[in-house]
Amino acid sequence: MQQTIDTSELARAGSELHGEYSLARLQRLGSLLADCDGSLARRLRGWRERAVDGVVQDFMALSIAATVRMACVRCNAPVAVELSAERGYRLVRSEAEAERLDLDDQQYDVLAGGRHFDLAALVEDEAMMALPAIPRHERCELPAAAATASGAATPGAEDERAHPFAALERLKNGAQNTDIIED
Ligand SMILES: [Zn+2]
Repeated sequence: MQQTIDTSELARAGSELHGEYSLARLQRLGSLLADCDGSLARRLRGWRERAVDGVVQDFMALSIAATVRMACVRCNAPVAVELSAERGYRLVRSEAEAERLDLDDQQYDVLAGGRHFDLAALVEDEAMMALPAIPRHERCELPAAAATASGAATPGAEDERAHPFAALERLKNGAQNTDIIED
């Protein structure tokens, strides 16, 4: 998906944009998730600073937050991941300038701004970078263990989230019995 903004206008006006994107519309991000239910909240603020030499510099700050589900690397069942990121950007005129300056700037990422800056692409990039490399449950609730547990499992949010997938997991377990038990 695309949502373009005028970064110069955002910075000049000192505007703040609130909104959210449906995960189903962020296809690059969605391809890394177990499902695309829900949405991603984003907040973008722009501001402009004038240096003593009179040079004007535009900035943006972005924060994103979402709860997504990824496939656990151990048991392959969905695991909820709290995704969040906050980034600051210094805006320059061209991609070439951004590449040249980005290495020098410790505080901000340097980006090429513009009148048709693709905010949705930036948000999606940041969301993808914020995903854990190895998503996994703190404790996988393997179906075999759940079946033999004497009802002593701690009730809580994790259990409620895991429950709808219990039937599916039982099916999967039938197919991969030995692997899962040995793990
Ligand atoms: Zn797991």
